[in-house]
Amino acid sequence: MIKRQNVKVIENKETKVSCSGDEKSGKHPLIYLTVDEGRAECYYCGRLFVTKDVHERYLKKTRKDFKKNKTNVQRKTNY
Ligand SMILES: [Zn+2]
Repeated sequence: MIKRQNVKVIENKETKVSCSGDEKSGKHPLIYLTVDEGRAECYYCGRLFVTKDVHERYLKKTRKDFKKNKTNVQRKTNY
């Protein structure tokens, strides 16, 4: 059931996020999630919330991986 993850970047200072789904993943009741170590995942729609810091780290890592192996076009979402 893991499809391409819907990721939303949030401010570093955010400690709580709300989610009610979206057009792509489907709507669900509004819930609040606690941001833990810069990330939170919605258990309804699977949307992933990450802080800018975590997101930047991820982008750097992805770029490095991409340089290392140019044929590797499969991008993993490993936050
Ligand atoms: Zn959700």
